[in-house]
Amino acid sequence: GGGADPPRIRRLEESVVNRIAAGEVIQRPSSAVKELIENSLDAGASTVSVTVKDGGLKLIQVSDDGHGIRFEDLPILCERHTTSKLSAYEDLQTIKSMGFRGEALASMTYVGHVTVTTITEGQLHGYRVSYKDGVMENEPKPCAAVKGTQVMVENLFYNMVARRKTLQNSNDDYPKIVDFISRFAVHHINVNFSCRKHGANRADVHSASTPSRLDAIRNVYGASVVRDLMEIEVSDENAGDAVFKMDGYISNANYVAKKITMILFINDRLVDCTSLKRAIEFVYSATLPQASKPFIYMSINLPPEHVDVNIHPTKKEVSLLNQERLIEIIKNTIEEKLRSSNTTRIFQTQA
Ligand code: ADP
Ligand code: MG
Repeated sequence: GGGADPPRIRRLEESVVNRIAAGEVIQRPSSAVKELIENSLDAGASTVSVTVKDGGLKLIQVSDDGHGIRFEDLPILCERHTTSKLSAYEDLQTIKSMGFRGEALASMTYVGHVTVTTITEGQLHGYRVSYKDGVMENEPKPCAAVKGTQVMVENLFYNMVARRKTLQNSNDDYPKIVDFISRFAVHHINVNFSCRKHGANRADVHSASTPSRLDAIRNVYGASVVRDLMEIEVSDENAGDAVFKMDGYISNANYVAKKITMILFINDRLVDCTSLKRAIEFVYSATLPQASKPFIYMSINLPPEHVDVNIHPTKKEVSLLNQERLIEIIKNTIEEKLRSSNTTRIFQTQA
């Protein structure tokens, strides 16, 4: 080559930039549901109800009984980078809320139609308002409302032809949505969750607030799973400060499934940690080859400064300080538990 003129560089229009970014935050209907549930939990909700139509492409509706949104904040609610949860960068180190980027609601307005109904404590009526491309479409209309907030997202990806097509052709996202809610229900045992298809009488997930983790797991995954679970716990003290604590339930030798169920919360965030999952699968197939696809619920607590929650817009993967060492500790704890329970079982059958 050498002969051709280089192509001109142009600045993308803001609406294009926003739509591209939004497509990264909201990858599919289930990611919108996850963000909305996290907002409800951040708002201190004790009840979160989800309704879905057409796998979330037609409608996602999440209602909560949380603290609601102030009338004065409604104009900027769905602008990019508006949040009530973070003010200085340094706050990220100690942040307890699941949200902090102020991008979820904004993103939904760039790829769908968003309507919010909300009421705050002590108000006589609520407000309803719709948003498009980050801005309010109309003045908030007074309306009847019960405590909390309802967010409705309609026609998700209406303006992203390729995304809509692949989602329509691929399996419906509803099972993924049910899966997310099931996981939240196991961890947040004080919250009532429900999820149903639009127009259905029966909920597909229905968890009632309970003080018992096993009850919560039974509610969602059934009694047969709970029968085969063992409690595990480990902590690693360093110079008197508990730097690492893990507790949860893991399946025993009797639990046989086609695939692993791994419910992982790190500092109360639902996350994936591929290397931890692999390590656990490895322990099971080495120790209990006949039960090598376990059920795992695990809650890990670390000092917030040991967790980087900001490596991905979806906050799905987190990175941990001393990750290898933590994985080693967890692996050893599980291995020990499996070995001792397996011996007990053999003794019992022989007796
Ligand atoms: P983030 O959660 O990162 O702050 P979002 O775009 O998800 O960003 O939400 C923006 C803001 O809207 C939140 O900071 C919160 O103040 C408010 N908000 C969103 N959903 C709810 C809700 N269900 N209840 C109360 N406030 C909410
Ligand atoms: Mg949020």
